[in-house]
Amino acid sequence: MSESTTGDLTRLTAADLAARLAAGEVSSVEATRAHLDRIAAVDGDVHAFLHVSDHALDVAADIDRRRAAGEQLGALAGVPLAIKDVLVTTDMPSTSGSKILEGFISPYDATVVARSRAAGLVPLGKTNMDEFAMGSSTEYSAYGPTHNPWDLDRIPGGSGGGSAAAVAAFEAPLALGSDTGGSIRQPAHVTGTVGMKPTYGAVSRYGAIALASSLDQVGPVSRTVLDSALLHDVIGGHDPNDATSLEDAWPSFAAAAREGATGDVLKGLKVGVIRELPDTGFQPGVAASFRASLALLEAHGAEIVEISAPHFEYGVAAYYLILPAEASSNLAKFDSVRFGLRVDVPGGTVEDVMARSREVGFGDEVKRRIILGTYALSAGYYDAYYGSAQKVRTLIQRDFDDAFAQVDVIATPSAPTTAFRLGEKVDDPIQMYLNDVTTIPVNLAGVPGISIPSGLAEEDGLPVGIQFVAPARQDARLYRVGAALEALLVDDWGGPLLDRAPRLGGNL
Ligand code: GLN
Repeated sequence: MSESTTGDLTRLTAADLAARLAAGEVSSVEATRAHLDRIAAVDGDVHAFLHVSDHALDVAADIDRRRAAGEQLGALAGVPLAIKDVLVTTDMPSTSGSKILEGFISPYDATVVARSRAAGLVPLGKTNMDEFAMGSSTEYSAYGPTHNPWDLDRIPGGSGGGSAAAVAAFEAPLALGSDTGGSIRQPAHVTGTVGMKPTYGAVSRYGAIALASSLDQVGPVSRTVLDSALLHDVIGGHDPNDATSLEDAWPSFAAAAREGATGDVLKGLKVGVIRELPDTGFQPGVAASFRASLALLEAHGAEIVEISAPHFEYGVAAYYLILPAEASSNLAKFDSVRFGLRVDVPGGTVEDVMARSREVGFGDEVKRRIILGTYALSAGYYDAYYGSAQKVRTLIQRDFDDAFAQVDVIATPSAPTTAFRLGEKVDDPIQMYLNDVTTIPVNLAGVPGISIPSGLAEEDGLPVGIQFVAPARQDARLYRVGAALEALLVDDWGGPLLDRAPRLGGNL
């Protein structure tokens, strides 16, 4: 195959690439090489990857051999995959964006990685992220920020900005992410990509370096709803290694997405819009795009229903007590004895070495949250802080229960603004935290949420996402509704939103 045709392979959706692979029109080696070439060409600017696999082509060649031998392969066999560095891998380092884990190689694969490999996906490398998944811009990565492919001076979202940017910049057709308060959906919003946070317990977290265990969820990142559904089909389902893993039998999410794109799923669909939300200060272009999407849904038979979720506005405050509390406990294992960085203190005690290693190994945001969490859990303050936050969490869960008694899905903008400039909020944690005002309640309630591109903001031409939220276990509904709106929007735009990214048009 000529250079120019292999170059085009990076522009295909995962579903289209998989179809061409299955038909024998291209090989996995060609597809993988095209993506590695693309990474070599643009990742110096984007910095989506912390590590690029040096044996992806061997893995691809093996898939090609197996296909040639007539072996039955999975739907995504041979398709390249980028992996957020929070997910541990045996053949590549896993740092979670932190100096404290620099060079760490895990003795086992995260379940989602193992399942991806078993399904024949080809790991391309590990993607950049805010340290230990704390952040909304990747600026808290110990390895330097990722740049948004739409505008390299802007943030790609966080914490999973590397996965979103890799997919947006055509460095990978698919990526894995993790979402504790929005880290899959907010990066999707600011990069014009799709990001899905499944129901809590729907996808194994075994081998996902824990941030806040009652909130963390692994999920897919892609350029289309169908592609996320296909990857979700691969990684989802019960895992005995994860104590919180649901034992449900799940439907085919790809089938749901296909049904959504072609069927009449919007007819009679009740879409809830939260009455209290407009008060939280959305950028005009974000609000306008959201309203336009609602109008489109309505024009195709959906019913827009105003609902009340009075406790949503306390979500961020409750989250920033619950998350630091759980994080302070989860991060205690980085003690310089068992993992990663150890800074020697000549003549010092074990405690001295531990303290010095943590001082050097953790960044400011991680330290801030460990201190906050330790304080919130301390005997004298536990009830006042952690206990109160848990009560708020229950109230938010009840808001969702009440809402879902009236509607099938809830819709919100995925984040309040488009991609802000690198450096703009990095020294202002509260401003950074407020990015997740619409995504955090979804994690607090454990329900699924998806962000799909809804358009460009008029004032800055940058992408905007709409979030749909469904009741727990109704992940398939999100793929159905997301694919339905996506089909209408792409029709309106005359092609995918990413085709309109100015930098990408200029090939970065
Ligand atoms: N931005 C949020 C935070 O900083 C969400 C992070 C995440 O989902 N991992 O905690």
